[in-house]
Amino acid sequence: MSNALPHWQLKELYPSLDSPELKADLLKIKNNVSALKELEFPPCPGSVEELASDLAKMIAQEEELSEPVEAISVYCHALITTDSYNSDAVKIESSLSGAMVALGLLNVRYLKWLAAVPEKLWNEFWASDASQDLKDFKFALNEERDNASHLLSEKEEELAARLEQCGTHAWAKMQGLITSRATAEFTYKGETKRLPLTALRAYQTDSDPDIRLNAQKTEEAAWKQLEDQVAACLNGVKGSANTMAKARGYSSALEQSLRISRLDDETFSALWDAMERSFPLFRRYFVSKAKKLGLPKLRWCDLDAPVGDSSRNYSIEDCQAFLYRHFESFSPELRDLAKRAFENNWIDAEPRDGKRGGAFCMPVRKLEESRILANYACNFDSVNCLAHELGHAFHNYCMKGLPMKQRKCPMTLAETASIMDEMIVSESALKEAQSKEEELYILESAIASTSGVIVDIASRFLFEKEVMERRLESELTAKELCAIMEKAQKATFGDALDENCLGPYMWTWKPHYYFSGFNFYNYPYAFGRLFAMALYSLYRKEGAAFVPKYMDFLRSAGQASPRELASRFGYNITKKEFWDNSLSIVENWVKRYEEL
Ligand SMILES: [Zn+2]
Repeated sequence: MSNALPHWQLKELYPSLDSPELKADLLKIKNNVSALKELEFPPCPGSVEELASDLAKMIAQEEELSEPVEAISVYCHALITTDSYNSDAVKIESSLSGAMVALGLLNVRYLKWLAAVPEKLWNEFWASDASQDLKDFKFALNEERDNASHLLSEKEEELAARLEQCGTHAWAKMQGLITSRATAEFTYKGETKRLPLTALRAYQTDSDPDIRLNAQKTEEAAWKQLEDQVAACLNGVKGSANTMAKARGYSSALEQSLRISRLDDETFSALWDAMERSFPLFRRYFVSKAKKLGLPKLRWCDLDAPVGDSSRNYSIEDCQAFLYRHFESFSPELRDLAKRAFENNWIDAEPRDGKRGGAFCMPVRKLEESRILANYACNFDSVNCLAHELGHAFHNYCMKGLPMKQRKCPMTLAETASIMDEMIVSESALKEAQSKEEELYILESAIASTSGVIVDIASRFLFEKEVMERRLESELTAKELCAIMEKAQKATFGDALDENCLGPYMWTWKPHYYFSGFNFYNYPYAFGRLFAMALYSLYRKEGAAFVPKYMDFLRSAGQASPRELASRFGYNITKKEFWDNSLSIVENWVKRYEEL
Protein backbone atom coordinates (compact mmCIF):
# COMPACT_ATOMS: atom_id res chain seq x y z
CA MET A 1 0.00 0.00 0.00
CA SER A 2 1.32 3.38 -0.96
CA ASN A 3 1.99 6.23 1.45
CA ALA A 4 -0.10 9.37 1.18
CA LEU A 5 0.58 11.35 -1.98
CA PRO A 6 2.76 14.42 -1.42
CA HIS A 7 1.68 18.06 -1.26
CA TRP A 8 4.08 20.79 -2.31
CA GLN A 9 5.98 22.94 0.13
CA LEU A 10 5.69 26.71 -0.36
CA LYS A 11 6.98 28.17 2.88
CA GLU A 12 10.45 28.86 1.45
CA LEU A 13 8.72 31.28 -0.92
CA TYR A 14 6.61 33.03 1.75
CA PRO A 15 5.74 31.76 5.25
CA SER A 16 2.05 32.68 4.73
CA LEU A 17 -0.32 35.06 2.96
CA ASP A 18 -0.27 37.49 5.88
CA SER A 19 3.46 37.20 6.58
CA PRO A 20 5.56 40.39 6.93
CA GLU A 21 7.72 39.15 4.00
CA LEU A 22 4.75 39.07 1.62
CA LYS A 23 3.42 42.40 2.91
CA ALA A 24 6.85 43.97 2.35
CA ASP A 25 6.88 42.76 -1.26
CA LEU A 26 3.36 44.08 -1.85
CA LEU A 27 4.45 47.47 -0.56
CA LYS A 28 7.53 47.35 -2.80
CA ILE A 29 5.29 46.72 -5.83
CA LYS A 30 2.99 49.58 -4.87
CA ASN A 31 5.93 51.99 -4.53
CA ASN A 32 7.45 50.77 -7.79
CA VAL A 33 4.20 51.34 -9.66
CA SER A 34 3.83 54.92 -8.43
CA ALA A 35 7.50 55.60 -9.21
CA LEU A 36 6.96 54.27 -12.75
CA LYS A 37 4.53 57.06 -13.50
CA GLU A 38 7.28 59.66 -13.05
CA LEU A 39 10.01 57.58 -14.64
CA GLU A 40 11.88 59.48 -17.35
CA PHE A 41 13.68 57.53 -20.04
CA PRO A 42 17.19 58.76 -20.87
CA PRO A 43 17.58 60.73 -24.11
CA CYS A 44 18.60 58.80 -27.19
CA PRO A 45 22.23 57.72 -26.57
CA GLY A 46 24.95 59.46 -28.57
CA SER A 47 27.81 56.99 -28.12
CA VAL A 48 28.37 53.25 -27.73
CA GLU A 49 29.42 53.80 -24.08
CA GLU A 50 26.23 55.68 -23.31
CA LEU A 51 24.17 52.98 -24.98
CA ALA A 52 25.95 50.27 -22.95
CA SER A 53 25.27 52.04 -19.69
CA ASP A 54 21.60 52.78 -20.54
CA LEU A 55 20.94 49.19 -21.59
CA ALA A 56 22.60 47.75 -18.47
CA LYS A 57 20.48 50.01 -16.28
CA MET A 58 17.24 49.04 -18.00
CA ILE A 59 17.98 45.33 -17.85
CA ALA A 60 18.68 45.60 -14.12
CA GLN A 61 15.51 47.63 -13.65
CA GLU A 62 13.40 45.03 -15.47
CA GLU A 63 14.71 42.35 -13.10
CA GLU A 64 14.08 44.44 -10.03
CA LEU A 65 10.55 45.44 -11.01
CA SER A 66 9.40 42.00 -12.05
CA GLU A 67 10.93 39.99 -9.20
CA PRO A 68 8.39 40.68 -6.41
CA VAL A 69 5.43 40.55 -8.84
CA GLU A 70 6.62 37.19 -10.11
CA ALA A 71 7.21 35.78 -6.61
CA ILE A 72 3.77 36.76 -5.32
CA SER A 73 1.98 35.56 -8.49
CA VAL A 74 3.70 32.19 -8.29
CA TYR A 75 2.84 31.87 -4.60
CA CYS A 76 -0.83 32.81 -5.10
CA HIS A 77 -1.11 30.63 -8.19
CA ALA A 78 0.23 27.67 -6.21
CA LEU A 79 -2.31 28.28 -3.42
CA ILE A 80 -5.28 28.82 -5.74
CA THR A 81 -4.63 25.87 -8.03
CA THR A 82 -4.54 23.48 -5.08
CA ASP A 83 -7.44 25.17 -3.25
CA SER A 84 -9.86 27.20 -5.35
CA TYR A 85 -11.71 28.19 -2.14
CA ASN A 86 -8.73 30.26 -0.97
CA SER A 87 -10.35 33.67 -1.43
CA ASP A 88 -7.49 35.56 0.28
CA ALA A 89 -5.04 34.30 -2.33
CA VAL A 90 -7.48 35.16 -5.13
CA LYS A 91 -7.78 38.69 -3.74
CA ILE A 92 -4.02 39.26 -3.49
CA GLU A 93 -3.46 37.81 -6.94
CA SER A 94 -6.05 40.11 -8.50
CA SER A 95 -4.52 43.10 -6.70
CA LEU A 96 -1.42 42.54 -8.88
CA SER A 97 -3.30 43.30 -12.10
CA GLY A 98 -2.71 47.07 -11.73
CA ALA A 99 1.03 46.42 -11.49
CA MET A 100 0.87 44.15 -14.54
CA VAL A 101 -0.80 46.87 -16.64
CA ALA A 102 1.76 49.47 -15.45
CA LEU A 103 4.63 47.13 -16.34
CA GLY A 104 3.07 46.43 -19.75
CA LEU A 105 2.84 50.15 -20.54
CA LEU A 106 6.40 50.68 -19.30
CA ASN A 107 7.50 47.96 -21.69
CA VAL A 108 5.91 49.79 -24.61
CA ARG A 109 7.83 52.96 -23.66
CA TYR A 110 11.04 50.94 -23.31
CA LEU A 111 10.56 49.34 -26.76
CA LYS A 112 9.94 52.76 -28.29
CA TRP A 113 13.15 54.02 -26.72
CA LEU A 114 15.07 50.99 -28.00
CA ALA A 115 13.68 51.36 -31.52
CA ALA A 116 14.78 55.00 -31.61
CA VAL A 117 18.47 54.05 -31.30
CA PRO A 118 19.89 54.70 -34.81
CA GLU A 119 20.80 51.59 -36.80
CA LYS A 120 24.37 52.87 -37.33
CA LEU A 121 25.03 53.31 -33.61
CA TRP A 122 23.38 49.94 -32.88
CA ASN A 123 25.72 48.13 -35.27
CA GLU A 124 28.79 50.02 -34.03
CA PHE A 125 27.85 49.06 -30.49
CA TRP A 126 27.80 45.31 -31.19
CA ALA A 127 31.11 45.57 -33.04
CA SER A 128 32.75 47.45 -30.17
CA ASP A 129 34.18 46.41 -26.78
CA ALA A 130 31.40 48.36 -25.07
CA SER A 131 28.98 45.50 -25.79
CA GLN A 132 31.24 42.91 -24.13
CA ASP A 133 29.15 42.50 -20.95
CA LEU A 134 25.90 42.47 -22.88
CA LYS A 135 26.71 40.04 -25.66
CA ASP A 136 24.50 37.31 -24.19
CA PHE A 137 21.59 39.73 -24.50
CA LYS A 138 22.20 40.41 -28.18
CA PHE A 139 19.53 38.05 -29.48
CA ALA A 140 16.87 39.23 -27.00
CA LEU A 141 17.64 42.91 -27.63
CA ASN A 142 17.58 42.51 -31.41
CA GLU A 143 14.28 40.67 -31.16
CA GLU A 144 12.86 43.45 -29.00
CA ARG A 145 13.99 46.03 -31.56
CA ASP A 146 12.28 44.04 -34.27
CA ASN A 147 9.09 43.77 -32.19
CA ALA A 148 9.29 47.49 -31.56
CA SER A 149 9.21 48.12 -35.30
CA HIS A 150 5.73 46.56 -35.29
CA LEU A 151 4.42 48.77 -32.49
CA LEU A 152 1.81 51.44 -33.08
CA SER A 153 2.11 54.89 -31.52
CA GLU A 154 2.04 55.03 -27.72
CA LYS A 155 -1.52 56.38 -27.77
CA GLU A 156 -2.72 53.74 -30.23
CA GLU A 157 -1.08 50.97 -28.19
CA GLU A 158 -2.88 52.15 -25.09
CA LEU A 159 -6.19 52.34 -26.94
CA ALA A 160 -5.60 48.88 -28.45
CA ALA A 161 -4.85 47.43 -25.00
CA ARG A 162 -8.05 48.90 -23.59
CA LEU A 163 -10.18 47.83 -26.53
CA GLU A 164 -8.75 44.32 -26.33
CA GLN A 165 -10.32 43.97 -22.87
CA CYS A 166 -13.82 44.61 -24.21
CA GLY A 167 -13.21 43.14 -27.66
CA THR A 168 -11.13 39.99 -28.16
CA HIS A 169 -10.98 39.15 -24.45
CA ALA A 170 -14.72 39.57 -24.12
CA TRP A 171 -15.38 37.26 -27.09
CA ALA A 172 -13.02 34.67 -25.62
CA LYS A 173 -14.72 34.99 -22.25
CA MET A 174 -18.11 34.46 -23.87
CA GLN A 175 -16.82 31.35 -25.67
CA GLY A 176 -15.49 30.08 -22.32
CA LEU A 177 -18.84 30.70 -20.62
CA ILE A 178 -20.89 29.04 -23.36
CA THR A 179 -18.68 25.97 -23.59
CA SER A 180 -18.21 25.46 -19.86
CA ARG A 181 -21.93 25.78 -19.13
CA ALA A 182 -23.31 23.78 -22.03
CA THR A 183 -25.02 20.56 -20.97
CA ALA A 184 -26.83 17.64 -22.61
CA GLU A 185 -28.94 14.71 -21.52
CA PHE A 186 -27.10 11.43 -21.82
CA THR A 187 -28.21 7.89 -21.10
CA TYR A 188 -25.54 5.57 -19.76
CA LYS A 189 -26.35 2.01 -18.68
CA GLY A 190 -30.06 2.77 -18.50
CA GLU A 191 -29.68 5.91 -16.43
CA THR A 192 -30.34 9.35 -17.99
CA LYS A 193 -28.46 12.33 -16.63
CA ARG A 194 -27.85 15.94 -17.66
CA LEU A 195 -24.11 16.35 -18.02
CA PRO A 196 -21.76 19.21 -18.82
CA LEU A 197 -20.29 18.64 -22.31
CA THR A 198 -16.82 18.40 -20.75
CA ALA A 199 -18.01 15.39 -18.72
CA LEU A 200 -19.82 13.92 -21.71
CA ARG A 201 -16.57 13.98 -23.71
CA ALA A 202 -15.04 11.56 -21.21
CA TYR A 203 -17.37 8.83 -22.57
CA GLN A 204 -15.38 8.93 -25.79
CA THR A 205 -12.74 6.90 -23.94
CA ASP A 206 -15.27 4.18 -23.05
CA SER A 207 -14.51 0.67 -24.23
CA ASP A 208 -17.98 0.27 -25.79
CA PRO A 209 -18.03 1.66 -29.38
CA ASP A 210 -21.77 2.42 -29.23
CA ILE A 211 -21.36 4.48 -26.08
CA ARG A 212 -18.52 6.44 -27.70
CA LEU A 213 -20.58 7.18 -30.79
CA ASN A 214 -23.64 8.09 -28.76
CA ALA A 215 -21.51 10.48 -26.65
CA GLN A 216 -20.18 12.19 -29.78
CA LYS A 217 -23.60 12.48 -31.41
CA THR A 218 -25.16 13.83 -28.19
CA GLU A 219 -22.39 16.42 -27.92
CA GLU A 220 -22.82 17.47 -31.55
CA ALA A 221 -26.56 17.90 -31.11
CA ALA A 222 -25.86 20.22 -28.18
CA TRP A 223 -23.36 22.25 -30.25
CA LYS A 224 -25.93 22.57 -33.03
CA GLN A 225 -28.08 24.61 -30.62
CA LEU A 226 -25.17 26.89 -29.69
CA GLU A 227 -23.24 27.10 -32.96
CA ASP A 228 -24.32 30.60 -33.99
CA GLN A 229 -23.30 32.10 -30.65
CA VAL A 230 -19.87 30.43 -30.71
CA ALA A 231 -19.37 31.32 -34.39
CA ALA A 232 -19.98 34.98 -33.46
CA CYS A 233 -17.18 34.67 -30.86
CA LEU A 234 -14.78 33.17 -33.39
CA ASN A 235 -15.61 35.81 -36.01
CA GLY A 236 -14.95 38.51 -33.39
CA VAL A 237 -11.59 37.09 -32.30
CA LYS A 238 -10.29 36.33 -35.78
CA GLY A 239 -11.56 39.59 -37.25
CA SER A 240 -9.63 41.56 -34.61
CA ALA A 241 -6.53 39.40 -35.13
CA ASN A 242 -6.51 40.20 -38.87
CA THR A 243 -7.01 43.90 -38.21
CA MET A 244 -4.20 44.05 -35.65
CA ALA A 245 -1.74 42.00 -37.72
CA LYS A 246 -2.26 44.36 -40.64
CA ALA A 247 -2.00 47.48 -38.46
CA ARG A 248 1.29 46.17 -37.07
CA GLY A 249 2.72 45.75 -40.55
CA TYR A 250 2.69 41.95 -40.84
CA SER A 251 1.65 40.40 -44.13
CA SER A 252 -0.71 38.08 -42.22
CA ALA A 253 -1.56 36.81 -38.74
CA LEU A 254 0.38 33.66 -39.68
CA GLU A 255 3.54 35.67 -40.32
CA GLN A 256 3.11 37.37 -36.95
CA SER A 257 2.69 34.00 -35.26
CA LEU A 258 5.78 32.52 -36.95
CA ARG A 259 7.91 35.46 -35.80
CA ILE A 260 6.71 35.00 -32.20
CA SER A 261 7.64 31.32 -32.53
CA ARG A 262 11.07 32.31 -33.89
CA LEU A 263 10.58 30.24 -37.02
CA ASP A 264 11.66 31.46 -40.45
CA ASP A 265 9.75 30.37 -43.55
CA GLU A 266 12.33 27.78 -44.56
CA THR A 267 12.24 26.06 -41.16
CA PHE A 268 8.46 26.15 -41.11
CA SER A 269 8.20 24.50 -44.52
CA ALA A 270 10.69 21.80 -43.44
CA LEU A 271 8.45 21.15 -40.41
CA TRP A 272 5.28 21.06 -42.52
CA ASP A 273 6.96 18.72 -44.97
CA ALA A 274 7.91 16.36 -42.12
CA MET A 275 4.34 16.46 -40.82
CA GLU A 276 2.94 15.60 -44.23
CA ARG A 277 5.46 12.81 -44.68
CA SER A 278 4.32 11.34 -41.35
CA PHE A 279 0.61 11.18 -42.31
CA PRO A 280 0.88 7.79 -44.11
CA LEU A 281 2.54 6.29 -40.99
CA PHE A 282 -0.18 7.53 -38.70
CA ARG A 283 -2.88 6.40 -41.15
CA ARG A 284 -1.45 2.88 -40.89
CA TYR A 285 -1.85 3.20 -37.12
CA PHE A 286 -5.50 4.36 -37.43
CA VAL A 287 -6.26 1.42 -39.71
CA SER A 288 -4.60 -1.02 -37.31
CA LYS A 289 -6.40 0.52 -34.33
CA ALA A 290 -9.76 0.12 -36.06
CA LYS A 291 -8.94 -3.55 -36.64
CA LYS A 292 -8.02 -4.06 -32.99
CA LEU A 293 -11.30 -2.42 -31.96
CA GLY A 294 -13.26 -4.63 -34.35
CA LEU A 295 -14.46 -1.69 -36.46
CA PRO A 296 -14.48 -1.43 -40.27
CA LYS A 297 -13.06 2.09 -40.01
CA LEU A 298 -12.03 4.43 -37.23
CA ARG A 299 -14.49 7.22 -36.38
CA TRP A 300 -13.68 10.54 -34.69
CA CYS A 301 -15.09 9.20 -31.41
CA ASP A 302 -12.70 6.22 -31.51
CA LEU A 303 -9.49 8.24 -31.54
CA ASP A 304 -9.20 8.03 -27.74
CA ALA A 305 -10.68 4.54 -27.38
CA PRO A 306 -8.64 2.33 -25.05
CA VAL A 307 -6.37 -0.38 -26.48
CA GLY A 308 -4.18 -2.81 -24.53
CA ASP A 309 -3.94 -3.43 -20.81
CA SER A 310 -3.33 -0.55 -18.42
CA SER A 311 -3.99 -2.39 -15.17
CA ARG A 312 -0.39 -2.28 -13.89
CA ASN A 313 -0.31 -0.28 -10.68
CA TYR A 314 2.41 2.30 -10.04
CA SER A 315 2.49 3.57 -6.46
CA ILE A 316 4.26 6.89 -6.05
CA GLU A 317 7.28 4.95 -4.73
CA ASP A 318 7.24 2.74 -7.85
CA CYS A 319 7.08 5.89 -9.93
CA GLN A 320 10.08 7.40 -8.12
CA ALA A 321 12.15 4.23 -8.47
CA PHE A 322 11.21 3.88 -12.14
CA LEU A 323 12.07 7.50 -12.97
CA TYR A 324 15.34 7.54 -11.00
CA ARG A 325 16.50 4.35 -12.71
CA HIS A 326 15.78 5.48 -16.27
CA PHE A 327 16.69 9.13 -15.83
CA GLU A 328 20.02 7.98 -14.42
CA SER A 329 20.79 6.04 -17.58
CA PHE A 330 20.29 9.30 -19.51
CA SER A 331 22.10 11.63 -17.12
CA PRO A 332 22.87 11.59 -13.36
CA GLU A 333 21.98 15.27 -13.29
CA LEU A 334 18.46 14.53 -14.51
CA ARG A 335 18.11 11.83 -11.84
CA ASP A 336 19.39 14.20 -9.13
CA LEU A 337 16.94 16.87 -10.17
CA ALA A 338 14.04 14.40 -9.98
CA LYS A 339 15.28 13.26 -6.58
CA ARG A 340 15.40 16.83 -5.30
CA ALA A 341 11.89 17.45 -6.61
CA PHE A 342 10.50 14.44 -4.72
CA GLU A 343 12.54 14.78 -1.54
CA ASN A 344 12.19 18.54 -1.12
CA ASN A 345 8.45 18.50 -1.81
CA TRP A 346 8.30 20.40 -5.08
CA ILE A 347 5.46 18.14 -6.21
CA ASP A 348 1.78 18.30 -5.35
CA ALA A 349 0.48 14.92 -6.41
CA GLU A 350 -2.72 14.23 -4.47
CA PRO A 351 -6.04 14.91 -6.22
CA ARG A 352 -8.48 16.57 -3.81
CA ASP A 353 -11.52 18.82 -3.55
CA GLY A 354 -10.81 22.35 -4.77
CA LYS A 355 -7.65 21.36 -6.65
CA ARG A 356 -7.56 21.92 -10.40
CA GLY A 357 -7.23 19.04 -12.83
CA GLY A 358 -4.38 18.27 -15.20
CA ALA A 359 -0.74 19.03 -14.53
CA PHE A 360 1.80 21.83 -14.92
CA CYS A 361 5.26 22.87 -13.83
CA MET A 362 6.16 26.43 -12.91
CA PRO A 363 9.56 27.95 -12.29
CA VAL A 364 10.12 29.59 -8.90
CA ARG A 365 12.93 31.90 -9.91
CA LYS A 366 13.33 33.41 -6.47
CA LEU A 367 14.43 29.99 -5.14
CA GLU A 368 15.86 28.68 -8.43
CA GLU A 369 13.48 25.75 -8.02
CA SER A 370 10.27 24.54 -9.67
CA ARG A 371 6.87 23.44 -8.43
CA ILE A 372 4.89 20.69 -10.12
CA LEU A 373 1.15 20.15 -9.90
CA ALA A 374 -0.16 16.72 -10.86
CA ASN A 375 -3.19 14.56 -10.13
CA TYR A 376 -1.49 11.24 -9.55
CA ALA A 377 -3.61 8.17 -10.31
CA CYS A 378 -1.12 5.30 -9.75
CA ASN A 379 -0.99 4.25 -13.42
CA PHE A 380 1.46 4.49 -16.30
CA ASP A 381 -0.10 7.70 -17.63
CA SER A 382 0.56 9.39 -14.30
CA VAL A 383 4.22 8.29 -14.36
CA ASN A 384 4.52 9.64 -17.89
CA CYS A 385 2.87 12.88 -16.87
CA LEU A 386 5.23 13.41 -13.92
CA ALA A 387 8.19 12.65 -16.20
CA HIS A 388 6.90 15.33 -18.58
CA GLU A 389 6.64 17.94 -15.82
CA LEU A 390 10.04 16.96 -14.41
CA GLY A 391 11.40 17.68 -17.88
CA HIS A 392 10.17 21.26 -17.52
CA ALA A 393 11.79 21.39 -14.08
CA PHE A 394 15.04 20.13 -15.61
CA HIS A 395 14.85 22.87 -18.23
CA ASN A 396 14.41 25.45 -15.45
CA TYR A 397 17.39 23.92 -13.68
CA CYS A 398 19.53 24.23 -16.82
CA MET A 399 18.64 27.94 -16.99
CA LYS A 400 19.70 28.55 -13.39
CA GLY A 401 21.20 31.99 -12.74
CA LEU A 402 20.20 33.47 -16.09
CA PRO A 403 18.51 36.88 -16.19
CA MET A 404 14.86 37.01 -17.24
CA LYS A 405 15.58 38.32 -20.74
CA GLN A 406 17.66 35.24 -21.55
CA ARG A 407 15.02 32.79 -20.35
CA LYS A 408 12.23 33.78 -22.71
CA CYS A 409 11.71 30.60 -24.60
CA PRO A 410 9.27 30.39 -27.54
CA MET A 411 6.57 27.73 -27.36
CA THR A 412 8.40 25.85 -30.11
CA LEU A 413 11.23 25.06 -27.66
CA ALA A 414 9.38 25.12 -24.35
CA GLU A 415 8.44 21.44 -24.63
CA THR A 416 11.83 20.04 -25.69
CA ALA A 417 12.88 18.81 -22.24
CA SER A 418 9.43 17.54 -21.26
CA ILE A 419 9.01 15.45 -24.39
CA MET A 420 12.57 14.18 -24.11
CA ASP A 421 11.61 12.81 -20.66
CA GLU A 422 8.44 11.28 -22.06
CA MET A 423 10.56 9.56 -24.70
CA ILE A 424 12.93 8.18 -22.06
CA VAL A 425 9.98 6.88 -20.05
CA SER A 426 8.01 5.31 -22.87
CA GLU A 427 11.03 3.67 -24.50
CA SER A 428 12.06 2.24 -21.09
CA ALA A 429 8.53 1.11 -20.24
CA LEU A 430 8.23 -0.65 -23.61
CA LYS A 431 11.35 -2.65 -22.78
CA GLU A 432 10.08 -3.52 -19.31
CA ALA A 433 6.52 -4.42 -20.33
CA GLN A 434 5.47 -7.68 -18.66
CA SER A 435 2.96 -8.72 -21.30
CA LYS A 436 2.06 -8.03 -24.92
CA GLU A 437 -1.13 -6.34 -23.75
CA GLU A 438 0.88 -3.96 -21.57
CA GLU A 439 3.31 -3.25 -24.40
CA LEU A 440 0.34 -2.52 -26.64
CA TYR A 441 -1.09 -0.12 -24.08
CA ILE A 442 2.19 1.83 -23.82
CA LEU A 443 2.56 1.97 -27.60
CA GLU A 444 -1.04 3.08 -28.00
CA SER A 445 -0.48 5.89 -25.53
CA ALA A 446 2.74 7.04 -27.27
CA ILE A 447 1.36 6.87 -30.82
CA ALA A 448 -2.05 8.31 -29.94
CA SER A 449 -0.57 11.35 -28.23
CA THR A 450 1.94 11.89 -31.03
CA SER A 451 -0.73 11.54 -33.74
CA GLY A 452 -2.84 14.08 -31.85
CA VAL A 453 0.04 16.54 -31.91
CA ILE A 454 0.89 15.92 -35.57
CA VAL A 455 -2.19 14.79 -37.53
CA ASP A 456 -4.91 16.55 -35.55
CA ILE A 457 -2.76 19.65 -35.05
CA ALA A 458 -2.13 19.76 -38.81
CA SER A 459 -5.90 19.76 -39.36
CA ARG A 460 -6.30 22.56 -36.83
CA PHE A 461 -3.62 24.56 -38.63
CA LEU A 462 -5.34 24.12 -42.01
CA PHE A 463 -8.66 25.07 -40.45
CA GLU A 464 -7.30 28.22 -38.85
CA LYS A 465 -5.42 29.25 -41.99
CA GLU A 466 -8.53 29.06 -44.13
CA VAL A 467 -10.67 30.80 -41.50
CA MET A 468 -8.16 33.66 -41.17
CA GLU A 469 -7.99 34.08 -44.94
CA ARG A 470 -11.73 34.00 -45.53
CA ARG A 471 -12.39 36.21 -42.51
CA LEU A 472 -10.56 39.00 -44.39
CA GLU A 473 -13.50 39.03 -46.81
CA SER A 474 -16.48 38.42 -44.55
CA GLU A 475 -17.82 36.71 -41.44
CA LEU A 476 -18.20 32.93 -41.57
CA THR A 477 -21.35 31.02 -40.67
CA ALA A 478 -21.31 28.04 -38.32
CA LYS A 479 -22.12 25.81 -41.29
CA GLU A 480 -19.10 27.14 -43.18
CA LEU A 481 -16.86 26.66 -40.13
CA CYS A 482 -17.98 23.02 -39.80
CA ALA A 483 -17.33 22.44 -43.51
CA ILE A 484 -13.82 23.95 -43.27
CA MET A 485 -13.10 21.76 -40.25
CA GLU A 486 -14.20 18.56 -42.01
CA LYS A 487 -12.20 19.46 -45.09
CA ALA A 488 -9.09 20.00 -42.94
CA GLN A 489 -9.60 16.68 -41.15
CA LYS A 490 -9.96 14.84 -44.46
CA ALA A 491 -6.74 16.42 -45.69
CA THR A 492 -4.70 15.13 -42.75
CA PHE A 493 -6.43 11.91 -41.57
CA GLY A 494 -7.06 10.92 -45.18
CA ASP A 495 -9.21 7.87 -45.78
CA ALA A 496 -8.10 6.31 -42.48
CA LEU A 497 -11.11 7.91 -40.79
CA ASP A 498 -14.76 7.29 -41.64
CA GLU A 499 -15.65 10.42 -43.61
CA ASN A 500 -19.21 10.31 -42.31
CA CYS A 501 -18.03 10.51 -38.73
CA LEU A 502 -15.48 13.31 -38.41
CA GLY A 503 -15.31 16.05 -35.76
CA PRO A 504 -16.99 19.09 -37.40
CA TYR A 505 -17.49 20.96 -34.11
CA MET A 506 -13.92 20.88 -32.83
CA TRP A 507 -13.71 24.67 -33.33
CA THR A 508 -16.42 25.35 -30.75
CA TRP A 509 -14.70 24.14 -27.61
CA LYS A 510 -10.92 24.09 -28.23
CA PRO A 511 -9.82 27.29 -26.46
CA HIS A 512 -6.72 27.72 -28.68
CA TYR A 513 -8.66 29.38 -31.50
CA TYR A 514 -9.78 32.10 -29.11
CA PHE A 515 -6.42 33.21 -27.66
CA SER A 516 -6.02 36.87 -28.43
CA GLY A 517 -2.26 37.19 -28.15
CA PHE A 518 -1.33 34.17 -30.23
CA ASN A 519 -2.91 32.95 -33.44
CA PHE A 520 -2.12 29.51 -34.84
CA TYR A 521 -1.61 28.08 -31.38
CA ASN A 522 -1.15 24.67 -32.97
CA TYR A 523 1.95 24.10 -35.13
CA PRO A 524 4.34 25.00 -32.23
CA TYR A 525 3.09 21.81 -30.52
CA ALA A 526 3.99 19.79 -33.61
CA PHE A 527 7.38 21.46 -33.86
CA GLY A 528 8.08 20.80 -30.17
CA ARG A 529 7.14 17.13 -30.40
CA LEU A 530 8.96 16.28 -33.64
CA PHE A 531 12.00 18.33 -32.64
CA ALA A 532 12.34 16.61 -29.24
CA MET A 533 11.81 13.19 -30.83
CA ALA A 534 14.58 13.93 -33.34
CA LEU A 535 16.87 14.93 -30.47
CA TYR A 536 16.01 11.70 -28.65
CA SER A 537 16.87 9.69 -31.73
CA LEU A 538 20.19 11.58 -32.00
CA TYR A 539 20.85 10.79 -28.33
CA ARG A 540 20.38 7.11 -29.14
CA LYS A 541 22.96 7.42 -31.91
CA GLU A 542 25.48 9.61 -30.09
CA GLY A 543 25.14 8.22 -26.56
CA ALA A 544 26.57 10.04 -23.52
CA ALA A 545 28.34 12.65 -25.69
CA PHE A 546 24.92 14.04 -26.57
CA VAL A 547 23.94 14.98 -23.00
CA PRO A 548 26.23 17.99 -22.32
CA LYS A 549 25.29 19.45 -25.72
CA TYR A 550 21.63 18.95 -24.86
CA MET A 551 21.96 20.70 -21.51
CA ASP A 552 23.78 23.55 -23.19
CA PHE A 553 20.98 23.71 -25.71
CA LEU A 554 18.33 23.94 -22.97
CA ARG A 555 20.29 26.65 -21.19
CA SER A 556 20.51 28.77 -24.33
CA ALA A 557 16.94 28.10 -25.55
CA GLY A 558 16.03 31.75 -24.90
CA GLN A 559 19.07 33.16 -26.63
CA ALA A 560 18.70 32.27 -30.32
CA SER A 561 16.20 30.96 -32.86
CA PRO A 562 15.65 27.17 -32.92
CA ARG A 563 17.42 27.06 -36.29
CA GLU A 564 20.50 28.89 -35.00
CA LEU A 565 20.60 26.86 -31.75
CA ALA A 566 20.38 23.56 -33.59
CA SER A 567 23.11 24.60 -36.01
CA ARG A 568 25.45 25.32 -33.09
CA PHE A 569 25.24 21.60 -32.38
CA GLY A 570 25.70 20.62 -35.99
CA TYR A 571 22.03 19.95 -36.83
CA ASN A 572 20.30 21.60 -39.77
CA ILE A 573 16.57 21.78 -39.07
CA THR A 574 15.75 23.12 -42.53
CA LYS A 575 16.77 19.74 -43.95
CA LYS A 576 14.61 16.67 -44.38
CA GLU A 577 17.34 14.44 -42.87
CA PHE A 578 17.00 16.07 -39.46
CA TRP A 579 13.26 15.37 -39.27
CA ASP A 580 13.72 11.83 -40.58
CA ASN A 581 15.13 11.09 -37.11
CA SER A 582 11.71 11.64 -35.57
CA LEU A 583 9.81 9.87 -38.33
CA SER A 584 11.96 6.76 -37.88
CA ILE A 585 10.78 6.51 -34.25
CA VAL A 586 7.14 6.76 -35.36
CA GLU A 587 7.76 4.14 -38.02
CA ASN A 588 9.22 1.68 -35.47
CA TRP A 589 6.31 2.25 -33.13
CA VAL A 590 3.70 1.72 -35.83
CA LYS A 591 5.41 -1.42 -37.12
CA ARG A 592 5.41 -2.99 -33.68
CA TYR A 593 1.83 -1.83 -33.04
CA GLU A 594 0.69 -3.58 -36.21
CA GLU A 595 2.46 -6.78 -35.12
CA LEU A 596 0.86 -6.90 -31.67
ZN1 LIG B 1 4.54 20.62 -21.06
